[in-house]
Amino acid sequence: MDQLKKDFNNEILRIIGNRTKDGYCAFCGEQLSENEYCDCPQAEKLNKYFKKTSKFIANINDRLVLSTSLKDARKALKATSNTPKLFDGVSFDDYKVECDSEKNAKATVLNYFDNAIQNYIYGKNLVLIGNSGTGKTMLQTILCNSLISRWLFSCKFINAVDLKGEITKCFNAKSDKTVDEIVNRYKKADFLFLDDIDKLAPTEFVKEFIYSLVNYRIVNQLPIITSANHTLEELDSKFYNEVIVSRLINNSPVIVFSHQNRRFEQ
Ligand SMILES: [Zn+2]
Repeated sequence: MDQLKKDFNNEILRIIGNRTKDGYCAFCGEQLSENEYCDCPQAEKLNKYFKKTSKFIANINDRLVLSTSLKDARKALKATSNTPKLFDGVSFDDYKVECDSEKNAKATVLNYFDNAIQNYIYGKNLVLIGNSGTGKTMLQTILCNSLISRWLFSCKFINAVDLKGEITKCFNAKSDKTVDEIVNRYKKADFLFLDDIDKLAPTEFVKEFIYSLVNYRIVNQLPIITSANHTLEELDSKFYNEVIVSRLINNSPVIVFSHQNRRFEQ
């Protein structure tokens, strides 16, 4: 467990550096009391990232206090992540690459995983576009499970259709949950996996809750991994609007799965 925190701290150092040096601000040299954040312009630019990462380490500590071992902490996070059972135990090695499109897809997702801490700090998204049966859900599941195993990130995996189902259930008089409670669960996870965003009929209601979810996460720099069968242009014109789509793809890799459905091949 200590190794995990050590690795995480090394990644933070590599990505954003130190904010203090021997009790002084690393940027302007001002003396700082314990837990004090300097307000000089250079420190101010990075303070939100330092705060985000120290909160994450505090969360890891909490998770490890609640669990008796790293294995238990992983299990607890896996249980609440809701990844598709179909791909339980599947790893990057199981994603077969036989053409350039598959090679590129796997390499891009692996690269996203290798830079997980950086992607978490800056809220970098990942978009997977392509026909059904090309392995988008499988790769997302592998990534989700790997983020939990390696770094104890809290991840939520949800198919957009199921998310809408969960939300509409709240309108039932018997429901003990509110729409806000449901949406908050997905707003606050370290990484959100939103599968099949274009399987929803784009009603005003759907657009509104997708916008609220995406916007919250973008503003708070929390990564979203999304998948869709339609092209970005089609998502823009038929499903959502430029605001949502441009937020999802801003500064983020977009993987196009151009190979054919191989779900039924044996
Ligand atoms: Zn300073």
